[in-house]
Order: sequence, then C-alpha cells, then structure tokens
Amino acid sequence: MTASVNGTKDAQQFDVVIIGGGHNGLVCAAYLARAGLKVKVLERRAVVGGAAVTEEFHPGFRNSVAAYTVSLLNPKIIADLDLHQHGLQIVERPAQNFLPLPDGGYLLTGEGRTKSEIAKFSTADAERYDRYCAKLETIADTLRDLVLRAPPNVVEGIGWRGLRELARAAALGNTLRGLDLEEQRLLLDLFTRSAAEILSEWFEAEPIKALLGFDSIVGNYASPFDPGTAYVLLHHAFGEVNGKKGAWGHAIGGMGAITQAMAKAAAEHGAEIETEAEVAEVLIERDHVVGVALRDGQVVRAKTLAANVNLKLLYTRLLPEAALPHDFLKRMRRFKCGSGTFRMNVALSELPSFTALPGKTAGAQHGAGIIIAPSLAYMDKAYRDAREHGWSREPIVEMLIPSTLDDSLAPPGAHVASLFCQHVAPELPDGRSWDDARDEVADLMIATVDAYAPGFAASVVGRQTLSPLDLEREFGLIGGDIFHGALTLNQLFSARPMLGYADYRGPLRGLYHCGSGAHPGGGVTGAPGHNAARTILADLKPFSSF
Ligand SMILES: Cc1cc2nc3c(=O)[nH]c(=O)nc-3n(C[C@H](O)[C@H](O)[C@H](O)COP(=O)(O)OP(=O)(O)OC[C@H]3O[C@@H](n4cnc5c(N)ncnc54)[C@H](O)[C@@H]3O)c2cc1C
Repeated sequence: MTASVNGTKDAQQFDVVIIGGGHNGLVCAAYLARAGLKVKVLERRAVVGGAAVTEEFHPGFRNSVAAYTVSLLNPKIIADLDLHQHGLQIVERPAQNFLPLPDGGYLLTGEGRTKSEIAKFSTADAERYDRYCAKLETIADTLRDLVLRAPPNVVEGIGWRGLRELARAAALGNTLRGLDLEEQRLLLDLFTRSAAEILSEWFEAEPIKALLGFDSIVGNYASPFDPGTAYVLLHHAFGEVNGKKGAWGHAIGGMGAITQAMAKAAAEHGAEIETEAEVAEVLIERDHVVGVALRDGQVVRAKTLAANVNLKLLYTRLLPEAALPHDFLKRMRRFKCGSGTFRMNVALSELPSFTALPGKTAGAQHGAGIIIAPSLAYMDKAYRDAREHGWSREPIVEMLIPSTLDDSLAPPGAHVASLFCQHVAPELPDGRSWDDARDEVADLMIATVDAYAPGFAASVVGRQTLSPLDLEREFGLIGGDIFHGALTLNQLFSARPMLGYADYRGPLRGLYHCGSGAHPGGGVTGAPGHNAARTILADLKPFSSF
C-alpha cells in the first residue's frame, strides 16, 4: 500500500469485492475465483466464518461460538469446493435428540430407536411416525431441489428479464408437479399454518409434539401456535449428514472447521481474504457501485460488490439514503430481523447427570441435541412471557455437548457445552439494555439445565454469553437474528429480501446479495453464496457458469 498525492491510500482494484467473510461470502468468493475473477473478501472480525466460527472462550476450552450443529450445508457445495480435502470432517450424533421431562420420563430419538421411544407415550403415534417422516421428507426433497436455484423474480414489463423469470416460474411449476395433490396441500399447510396445528393432526402425545415442534421455534421469535411456524420446522428438515437425510451432526473442530475449509478453498482459487477490514461505506458513482471505503480509510475498488452482511445493516448503515430507491429503503427498514435467541458456551468439569437418565459417563443422551422444552404449551408460554417481560422464568434451552464427539475442544476429562436458548425479546420491553440483563438471564439458563440435571451449575467452570445485542455487535446480526431476517412467508423465496429483488441483484448496478438475507435464508447452507455467485457469473462471464 502506498500513499497517493492527496494523502489517501492508493486504492486496490478487484473484479469483485465481497463485504463480509461469513460462510456465504467465502462460498461466493470460492466459486467466483474458481471462474477466474479477481476477488477480495473483506471481513470485519479477526477471523473469517461469521456466525460459523470456533474460538477459545475459556483457557483450554474451545467451541463453536454461535452456530453449533451441521445438517443444512449443501452436499454440492461440499463437493464443488473439496471441503473434505480441505480438512472438513463431519460426524453423526450417537442419538439425534434427548427430551428430558419434568416427571422423570424422557424421549431419546435416533436411528433404530425413535419408534420404540415414541411408543412409550403412544403406540398410535409410533405407528404414524414413519408416514409423517415420509411426507415431510417428500416436501423437504422438493425444497432441496429449490435451494440451489434463484427463485422466480417479480419484474415489471416483458423484456428479456421477464422472459427469464417466466422460464424460472415454469421450472418451479414443473418441480411442484412432482408432488401429488395431497402433498401439494401439505406444502401449502407447511408454508402457512402453525407447527402446533399440523403436529396435533398427526400426533397425540405432548412429548412427541414438543420434540418435533422445537424446530419450528429455533431462531423464530414466535409461538409454535402461530401461523407460519410450520415452515421453520420444514426449513430445519432439508439438510443431511454424510448422505443421511434430516440428520444433524458435528464438524470436528467445531463450525469453524467448515469455514476454515471454505477459506482454504477460496484462497486456493486465488481469492484474497483480509480480516480486521471493516467496510464503513459503499462507494457509488451515479447508480453504479464502484468500491468500498474501510473504517481505516483504505479504499478497495471493484465494479461488482457482493454483500454477505445482513441486508438491513447494508442498506441502513453502509449506503447513503439518497442513493437508494425510496420505496426499497422504506421496506428494508421494515424487514423483520430478531430471532429471540440467547447463546452460551460453558466449560464443564464433568458431564451432567440427568434425573431422567442418570449417569456421568458419556451415554447417547450426552451426544444428542438435549431439548429442555417439554411441551408446545411450554414454548408458547416462553414466547408470551418474553413478549411481556423480556424473557421467561421457564426458558427453552437446547444443549449440545460436542466434546463427547470431539476431543479437540476441551482438556481430557472436561467438556464444553453449547446452550442455544430461545425466546428472549430481541429488545427488552421496558427499555432496559441487554447489557444490564445478560448475566441474570445467563444464570437463569444454567439454572434451567440444573433443574433437569442437578449438579450442572456447579460443574460450570467458565462461560461465554451472547445476548441478542451481543450477537448484533459481534457478528452484525441485526436484532440477533440468526437467519439475517425472519423466515416468514412475506420474507421467503421470491419475497426474500423483497419482491422484485429475489435474483441476488440489489437496487444499484453492480451490487449483489450473497448472504442469508437472500433465498433460501439462514442456516449454514452455503446456498445464498452459491446462487449469488451464479448470478454474478451470468452477468460478468456468461460462458463460465457452474
Ligand atoms: C446463535 C446462533 C446459532 C445458530 N445455530 C445454527 C446451527 O446450529 N446450524 C446452522 O446451520 N445454522 C445456525 N445458525 C444460523 C447460521 O449460523 C447463520 O444463518 C449463517 O451462519 C449466516 O451466514 P452468512 O454467511 O450468511 O452470514 P454471517 O455468518 O452473518 O456473516 C456475515 C459476515 O459479515 C461480517 N461483517 C459484518 N459487518 C461487516 C462490515 N461492515 N464489514 C465487513 N464485514 C462485516 C460479519 O463479521 C460476518 O463475518 C445459528 C446462528 C446463530 C447466531
């Protein structure tokens, strides 16, 4: 870097600059660099990966800081970017989920055991379970077909863009024709109805409904009785682990192992990645983006920018208001962001022993997603309490203990656990700051686990706590929204981030969306990054698409 005559630093020039080095930014960079473009990734934090990172949070204890479990990462992206060759290893959980109940009962689900476990509560439910899974799987398959494609975009007029979108709509229609009428009705139900309604039509026992319904409120600040929550349940079902559909697993080394492998793939193809490089402003000439200015004054020029950052952050903080269409900005300001999640990592001196299934040596329950939310009514109350008071005295906690599958995370004999807690208000109702409530709520989360596993609180030797405000400050997740915007019907598919902008192109020429604010939304999928790269290549190098 040299100083120029006017005192500012000489600008670097690239074909594409990616704002944010989250997993989607890295995926986008890797595909574009692979196609021969000169790509630069600018990441604000000291490490790439965004919400999918592993860090030491207590001396000797490492864990996935935010995202903590893998399933949605698309197999095509794993293969295209050679992620396994770049060090990624994903292992299955010994059991999928463990739901301890206050009365000492429990459900422990996973390959070969789910039906017999359900039968403990209802033989009718156990008999229906396979059919439910088969139906959900058919719909999830359809969704899998759609995640790596741009949805049909709504455009005005009938130019070539109109024709292209018509072709996309026809392709979508063709995909949906693969479903029979009953399945199409279920698809509509899943997009519009509540998880509680759908689950209650299938099952009678509360623990089964709770275990399955938990996915409908993960990252979704809503009651499972609210319309639209069934879609979030479906969103969590389209993944797979090592070819096993719907399963969830663990990346050895934590979620950072995924993003480190992506960064290696991108770098191998020639992408430059710079950390501690916060973009302060997007530079525009007339209606075309021309580069970015960093917080330290450095300018990086490119006629194509791909935004991996939360789109509300991009449009309300990094671009001048006057540069944007008025209606677009008005809608973007209303774009709903706020998951109601609270995240903790704890260092443990020993494994917890659950009242429902005692034992301090590693058992299947310790390797499962441990869900503390015994009924849909409990989740509904947690949501209503959070709306009123900011959080519930009886919060929802999912706990994973990845050190039971991965000895790289904790010292021998010790463990780390992820606590993913749902239904705290993104903003506290009485105007209090999360900075004042953080520790009180963290104590409550630990006490909640302790109520099911006495002695847990005493085993905590270190902790890291991230309130919604911390998630926003640390990762740029506005309102702590884990998906970069709620997965509600008005913010999904052709309407993500809004009608007219679903094709990964923003309202300014040269500006693209490559993060979770674009279809198919949040989760460690890589799909928005992949799809945006395809759109960018279609515009810059039409003959080198993938
Ligand atoms: C607490 C939590 C738990 C989750 N659990 C799971 C899970 O278990 N499994 C799962 O699949 N998904 C999970 N998710 C969701 C998933 O992690 C996210 O949806 C996904 O990682 C978002 O990826 P992204 O690349 O689109 O954006 P991000 O990961 O948000 O990346 C955006 C990047 O932009 C950077 N940035 C922000 N501002 C600037 C700026 N001005 N200049 C430069 N860089 C900037 C940020 O630092 C960040 O690195 C979880 C998320 C959270 C927060």
